[in-house]
Amino acid sequence: MSEIKLSEVERIKTESNYLRGTIKEGLANQITGSISADDQQLIKLHGAYQQQDRDLDDERRKQKLEPLYSFLIRIRVPGGVATTKQWLEIDKLADTYGNPTIKLTTRQAFELHGVVKRKLKATIKGINQTLLDTLAACGDVNRNVMTSANPWESEIHQQVYNDARALHTNLSPQTTAYHEIWLNNELVSGGEKQEDFEPLYGKTYLPRKFKIAIAIPPRNDVDVYANDLGFIAIAENGKLIGYNILAGGGMGMTFGIETTYPRLGDLIGFVKPEDIVDAAKTVVIWQRENGNRSDRKNARLKYTIDRIGLNEFKSAIKNELGNKLESAKPFHFQSNGDNYGWEKGFNNKWYFTLFVEGGKVKNTDKLQLKTALQEIAQNHKGNFILTGNQNLVIADVDENEKEKINQLLEKWKLNKSFSGIRRNSLACVALPLCGMAFAEAERYLPSLVDKIEEYIKTLNIEEEDILIRMTGCPNGCARPYLGEIGLVGKSPGKYNLYLGASFTGDRLNKLYAELLTEEEIIAVLKPILADYALTKNYGERFGDFVIRKEYVNATTDGINFHSNVKKSM
Ligand code: SF4
Repeated sequence: MSEIKLSEVERIKTESNYLRGTIKEGLANQITGSISADDQQLIKLHGAYQQQDRDLDDERRKQKLEPLYSFLIRIRVPGGVATTKQWLEIDKLADTYGNPTIKLTTRQAFELHGVVKRKLKATIKGINQTLLDTLAACGDVNRNVMTSANPWESEIHQQVYNDARALHTNLSPQTTAYHEIWLNNELVSGGEKQEDFEPLYGKTYLPRKFKIAIAIPPRNDVDVYANDLGFIAIAENGKLIGYNILAGGGMGMTFGIETTYPRLGDLIGFVKPEDIVDAAKTVVIWQRENGNRSDRKNARLKYTIDRIGLNEFKSAIKNELGNKLESAKPFHFQSNGDNYGWEKGFNNKWYFTLFVEGGKVKNTDKLQLKTALQEIAQNHKGNFILTGNQNLVIADVDENEKEKINQLLEKWKLNKSFSGIRRNSLACVALPLCGMAFAEAERYLPSLVDKIEEYIKTLNIEEEDILIRMTGCPNGCARPYLGEIGLVGKSPGKYNLYLGASFTGDRLNKLYAELLTEEEIIAVLKPILADYALTKNYGERFGDFVIRKEYVNATTDGINFHSNVKKSM
């Protein structure tokens, strides 16, 4: 039998001495703003991506300069909970070392963009001093653990958050390379220096990235089905009794390769709260041992499960967990978006969910969001919570502090309402910084929504919640295949249009039209939206409507995502 050729990234990880590579030497090299190709792979596991400003490529080439390199730094925020002190410190780091913007990601993390190489170490050190970190924020490991960001709704939210933190801690890499490279071996948050050993991941870590989220019904605000491993909290009489487990979700695919597809997690059972870490580790180890290490396009858990078989996977997990793995319990989701505005919690505290378009916290002529949030953070004693929809919750506001916060929201014009389509819009970073992007996303979606809004106002459906998601490539960072309207960049200014995902995040959409310009997107959507306004059933969601009216066939499984596409295309 011929030996399987491992992918290049596997070689890089194997030879890296637990993620060291030559990152340290690369940082010291002042001749270039980049690091070596091998280190660019490794540095992802430290939470950074090397990027280049593609808007400036031509000009720099003419001037015989290398591209303008910089780094994106992703900061893990388990469950999205950050103190206002941390917010202010991250805000200052963005001003000092990056472009003065904080990006709130679709996985409840912060991102700083535009950090040049010589400032990378000071930035990561500064982040660690806030008691947050960047280790494992990217790369072939478990990433930031998400949870429902609405703690006012029940007492079990705190327990679920604690379980998310336990997953975060137990699934973090143990390498000391991170401290060695970024912190000069100083242990900022306590503990003793250990010898290198990765008991969970081994020397080569996972075959591909791994994502975990916990949802608390009836909200699916973390898109739990889109994760390699999803947990659905189950409560009885107001008490948390455990978690249903979903396995094998993931959004990414590659155009033109039908063996790649988005897929939703399959329900495989239920565990008690005290077994959640064991269950997660068991699945991680199975993927570590069985995942495809020769072809990164087929390496996520979703493909491993489809290759080996769901029943085989379930039996392997059952063999390890024994009686800890029980049958899944009933549950029901109502939506996967956020509720905006003020809500009073069971604990008599107040919570304000703020819409942050594209997750971008910055100052513009129209909106001084960054300054506004600085002032709120300076005046607020509770936390800020990042949601899985790139929004922000001003959390734990005491009754007697609410008026003060409200005045600040008014002063900075943050208590505006938005149309149903805008408040349910998600976009990834894309151009100019993401090297994978074929087209714009976060810089463009707001203006496209302006045009769609104009039209839906004439139909009197501007209050209808419709999920619209856009990415600059098919990798799926803003989960476009769970948009009732999904737009995925295929070439500059042109998008594939997908329709028909469910509003609750448990059905993928389906390709409806390819390579559309803005004019064509609007022309294609207009008659469908008009039909929706006229003939929708009471309470019918747009994603369900387009299937009932046979604009698209329903995608019932990732494996049939590319099939059953309407011939009219
Ligand atoms: Fe970049 Fe593609 Fe992810 Fe958008 S979806 S951020 S273009 S990799």
